[in-house]
Amino acid sequence: MKAEIVATGTELLLGETLNTSAHYLTGKMSSLGIEVDYHTTVGDNPERLEQVLRQGIGRSDLLITTGGLGPTADDLTKELVAKVLNLKMELDTSSLDQIKQFFGRRKAPMPLSNEKQAYFPKGSKILPNPIGTAPGAIIETMGKTVIILPGPPFEMRPMFDNFAWPELQRILGPQSERMNERVLKVFGMGESAIEEVLGELMSLPNLTMALLAKRAEMHIRLVARSTETKSGEAKEALKRAEEEIRRRLGDKVFGCDQETMIGIVGQTLINKHLTIATAESCTGGLLGAALTQEPGSSDFYLGGVVSYSNSLKKGILGVREETLNTFGAVSEEVAIEMAEGIRSKTGSDLAISTTGIAGPGGGSDKKPVGLVFVGFATPEGVHAEKFQFYGERESVRQLTVQAALNGVRQ
Ligand code: ATP
Ligand code: MG
Repeated sequence: MKAEIVATGTELLLGETLNTSAHYLTGKMSSLGIEVDYHTTVGDNPERLEQVLRQGIGRSDLLITTGGLGPTADDLTKELVAKVLNLKMELDTSSLDQIKQFFGRRKAPMPLSNEKQAYFPKGSKILPNPIGTAPGAIIETMGKTVIILPGPPFEMRPMFDNFAWPELQRILGPQSERMNERVLKVFGMGESAIEEVLGELMSLPNLTMALLAKRAEMHIRLVARSTETKSGEAKEALKRAEEEIRRRLGDKVFGCDQETMIGIVGQTLINKHLTIATAESCTGGLLGAALTQEPGSSDFYLGGVVSYSNSLKKGILGVREETLNTFGAVSEEVAIEMAEGIRSKTGSDLAISTTGIAGPGGGSDKKPVGLVFVGFATPEGVHAEKFQFYGERESVRQLTVQAALNGVRQ
């Protein structure tokens, strides 16, 4: 099956919005074993959109459109798909009810223009939109499939995953090739070090392995292709490879697939009934932001201080003048006193501190850019770890956050 992704919206052509939907959907297509031949982007212009749709239906088996499902006059994707496929537009009463309910929940009358969002090309299967007012649709006609999705990525993604994905699986049937995937996430090892340790595992016969460098972690992506009927064998191959990778990399592997460092750390703290507080210098609040990213963070995160200046390090955290003068703000000693200070101020079980040289300026021979100390205070004692990161300012800061969380995980 050959697919084409058509993103609509003038903002995409103006450089205002990055077409993240094409990226997202293409990843999904490759997991389904569907080849994407074209990405097309077109503005909110009826003539050009019609031309793009005609061309897409002519050359691809599957066309996925995003955007242009709004209530306004320039939102014309469904109407033009209907025109190109020679289908009439029909009212879907259950979609209309849901749109009315959407406004009901907001205690607002439904504007007449929103009625348009309940009309679909005849023969459409409706893909519900639990978040917004624009349902999507899937149309199968004359050996072609068209999937119509809304523009906002936070609406489009769950709609694709929950409603369009199972439809595509049905259309593909059990004999088509799928990708069985597993992503292992690693912190504290670079690409070449991982490659060296994995060695011959990198080229196993029935499995492909790829290393992807993210800003503050490495991903090892394992893929085994199989038909649905033979997916048991593929899953077994993935499992064996994963076990061997985990054996070789040990606890450098912190998670897999959808798991995140902060998700794992949060869960660990909740399971152990531990609270945590932060004292940040070079991360300027990023660590606190990471710790509050997931709902439920109030169960473990008490709060923290962004003590960027020496005077706040002294005044609020109780870091000693003498320590600052002797060792400098970026030092093991100051990291330790910051962590101790915030722990005793907040009464938390654990505390972490960060101090470092994020760059680009401020480095020296003795203390180069990327030098970071992370302090860890626990009921058992306090210590600091030294890191030398490489990269620009944002990378150094993100790596520091990840190192701090990783220390808590362990
Ligand atoms: P509505 O008008 O009801 O919001 P729509 O289906 O017409 O829905 P658009 O107006 O095209 O959607 O887009 C809504 C939002 O989604 C905009 O903020 C837009 O920048 C963003 N968006 C649209 N297409 C994409 C895309 N391909 N990638 C990333 N963001 C997108
Ligand atoms: Mg639009």
